[in-house]
Amino acid sequence: MRRPIIVGNWKMHKTTAEAVALVNALRASVTQVQDVDIGVAPPFTALMAVAEALRGSRLFVVAQNMHWEPQGAFTGEISAAMLTGIGCTRVIIGHSERRQYFAETDATVNKKLRAALNAQLDPLLCIGETLDQREGNATFSVLEQQVRHGLADIAAESMARVVIAYEPIWAIGTGKTATPTQAQEVHAFIRSLLGELYGKALADEVRIQYGGSVNAGNIQTLMTQPDVDGALVGGASLEASSFAQIVSFQRG
Ligand code: PEP
Repeated sequence: MRRPIIVGNWKMHKTTAEAVALVNALRASVTQVQDVDIGVAPPFTALMAVAEALRGSRLFVVAQNMHWEPQGAFTGEISAAMLTGIGCTRVIIGHSERRQYFAETDATVNKKLRAALNAQLDPLLCIGETLDQREGNATFSVLEQQVRHGLADIAAESMARVVIAYEPIWAIGTGKTATPTQAQEVHAFIRSLLGELYGKALADEVRIQYGGSVNAGNIQTLMTQPDVDGALVGGASLEASSFAQIVSFQRG
């Protein structure tokens, strides 16, 4: 019913030359994969060259961040129009590393989300709890706050274009993956919350990715869960062969 969507988040890795070599290899190794939406999120400096290398392919180009203003005196920032202008179709918003190291809040995440949607850039909204929050039984309340505030004033017409990435912070880059049952429990919670906010029919359309140490060995069981609609992949997306194996997971 929902088409899987798998995106590789390269974070601050790869020069432009390395990025082009990686997508060329990736493009060649995923030609048989027809039923999964596949994206890559290189650093800003490589976006244009990667978009060029992927021209004519089904793979799409994702930015890792953007500013909410359309232009202005914001040294070091990049606007949504600058991203669409070079071929980006999606943008990651509110990654936990941005929240943790660059002081992003639900309020700034919401401004970015609205600006992206207005600029015809489809957002991937990242949410997730820390280990302390999970151990303190605060997972659902933390996620509820991130969803409600992150999506404030986002109309139903736009919501269908938003992908949510559930990324438990304790699982990012740590090698610890949420079990399929843990992921399913949270994804079902997020979907029921979306149902409260937007109605069940729309909530059933929204794709919810899992992120946190996804690799070729665990993608299969994660994807068997009914509310897991794809993955946001960090470390394992930096090699064409491991990312190609992930996007080629076999449907159950
Ligand atoms: C990420 O950065 O979004 C991520 C999930 O990283 P990793 O796969 O390396 O845990």
